[in-house]
Amino acid sequence: MKYACDLHIHTALSPCANEEMTPNNIVNMSLIKGLDIIAITDHNSAKNVRAVIECAKGKNLIVLPGIEVNTREDIHVLCYFSTIEKLEEFDAWLYVKLAEMPFEEKHFGSQLVMDSSDEVISHENKFLLQGADVSFNHLLAFVNEMGGIAVPAHINRTANSLLYIFGFIPVDPLIKAVELGRLAPTPKIDINKYHVINSSDAHDLSAILEREYFIDLNAKSAEELLQHFNNIL
Ligand SMILES: [Zn+2]
Ligand SMILES: [Zn+2]
Repeated sequence: MKYACDLHIHTALSPCANEEMTPNNIVNMSLIKGLDIIAITDHNSAKNVRAVIECAKGKNLIVLPGIEVNTREDIHVLCYFSTIEKLEEFDAWLYVKLAEMPFEEKHFGSQLVMDSSDEVISHENKFLLQGADVSFNHLLAFVNEMGGIAVPAHINRTANSLLYIFGFIPVDPLIKAVELGRLAPTPKIDINKYHVINSSDAHDLSAILEREYFIDLNAKSAEELLQHFNNIL
């Protein structure tokens, strides 16, 4: 069956995202838009994912645990896991690779950690838009080791994209899918051998996709989705 997905959505934890991106607002807007599966992918942190999963409980929406890592090379990579526990384990591994750097919310935007009632629990004090101390290759290997999948994000953009920074997509069996960003031209290289993900990269509620990008799955679950991306085309 085909399911409508948007696998790249930021919450108010990302400093560049609107503060309206609370767990409840994201879940409710996704339901209004008729989505079946969403992924929460904040920059370098997964601290709001559990709250969004809790909000979606009992509703007709699957939340795939995710994060958008910024590597040492300044490449954005979406990393997805089958369970929140695995994602949080990954998050702890990544957190120590982020530097303590002076950061003022009034200049860069707030980084709000929220609970499932949209209450602010804390403000993240490590600046999340920095490049983590992990290389692209190491990231791919570690995510794979943890049973997750790493997807180079918005490869058709000129900022923070694998294709722009490396100039090509490395031949690597661990790259099984690539994401195309909206409002950027389709790349002039052959991407037919990859699963191609179209997503919103929403930083505000209105940007969340409508029913426009579909994935054919045997069942509506995070495990099935990861299995789908692992299938060789
Ligand atoms: Zn990005
Ligand atoms: Zn993003």
